[in-house]
Amino acid sequence: MEIIFLIMLFCMGTVFGSFFTLAVYRIPLGLDITHKRSFCPNCNHRLEFKDLIPVLSYLSLKGKCRYCGKPVRSRYLILEVLSGLVFVVSYFAYKLTFPFFEVESIISLIAFVMFYVTNCLILGIDKEYIKVEKKVLLFGIITNTLYMLYLYTFNNLNLYRYGIYLVVLLILFCLDTFFLKKFKKSFYFLQILMLLTYEISFINEINKLVLGLVIFLVITLIYIVLNRIKKNNKIPFGFIISLSSIMCVLIGNLGFKLF
Ligand SMILES: [Zn+2]
Repeated sequence: MEIIFLIMLFCMGTVFGSFFTLAVYRIPLGLDITHKRSFCPNCNHRLEFKDLIPVLSYLSLKGKCRYCGKPVRSRYLILEVLSGLVFVVSYFAYKLTFPFFEVESIISLIAFVMFYVTNCLILGIDKEYIKVEKKVLLFGIITNTLYMLYLYTFNNLNLYRYGIYLVVLLILFCLDTFFLKKFKKSFYFLQILMLLTYEISFINEINKLVLGLVIFLVITLIYIVLNRIKKNNKIPFGFIISLSSIMCVLIGNLGFKLF
């Protein structure tokens, strides 16, 4: 039975994965992400339900649009499969015990899914536009604050430290609004500082933070080496930070320790 549950989790993950590609495309353009139906970016044909089944649609159409035959980027498939895998791994990382789940594990898992959604959107948008989308970050901060309030109410968590992170975030948001007014632009380093504060407020454990830093350095190094070949000089730090954060939370929760 547990295996069926894991397959269900995998499928749920692939649905999230296909939502990410849609949201990463629509949010920066200011388009609606929930109501309007998906369409092919090449021929603009509206996609039917049978075209929107994660993984299976892609495979059955051999990676091409049903209506115009143009190839669909393979990263859609990769993202869907990866998201499915992340959901399966998080089942073990959050120690869910099938079939009797503890309320606490479920709530932590939901908090992680919100963290995962926030980071996937941030990394997707940053990779494309070199910009940390503040709307997405705000979603992450609000959901994380709700989780902290839950821990405070039921687990006697001390909110002092989280309060400091929130104050730092508030100051950074104010600074950003100020710069937007004065210079009519938002500065990337400020966005990165906001993102970092958000990540630290969620991860909140020295062990995982150090692990995250190591992963961050490795990915940055790989990126720089690859960039030498491609001659593209802007490093999407938001992308790398979000990716390392997801990885260090999952690996850390699976029990891996650096020291
Ligand atoms: Zn098409």
